[in-house]
Amino acid sequence: MTPLYAVRTTGIVCRVGCGSRRPNPENVVWVTHLDEALAAGFRPCKRCRPDDVHPQEAFRDSVVSQARDYLRLGVGVADTAARLHVSERHLRRLVRQHTGLSPRELIG
Ligand SMILES: [Zn+2]
Repeated sequence: MTPLYAVRTTGIVCRVGCGSRRPNPENVVWVTHLDEALAAGFRPCKRCRPDDVHPQEAFRDSVVSQARDYLRLGVGVADTAARLHVSERHLRRLVRQHTGLSPRELIG
């Protein structure tokens, strides 16, 4: 299952990789299970539908898209790799292959 994050300021839960506007990292709460977020009063995002067990085909679930989100949300490169279950070196190579950029340049 795609990892989720909730945004304190908007009260919305998103999948990592959602195309909606990026929240300020300070307002992000990492969520293990959707139920947990819903119980805390957050609403599922209408765009990435974390409540939908069959995600929209349009939703890009690639490692690179998730990595970009983690990095933009203030997670370090090594931690991002760990969360995506790949080595840091592998992550850097994947990002480079898909975007021609380093992880740092990706969020710059
Ligand atoms: Zn979303």
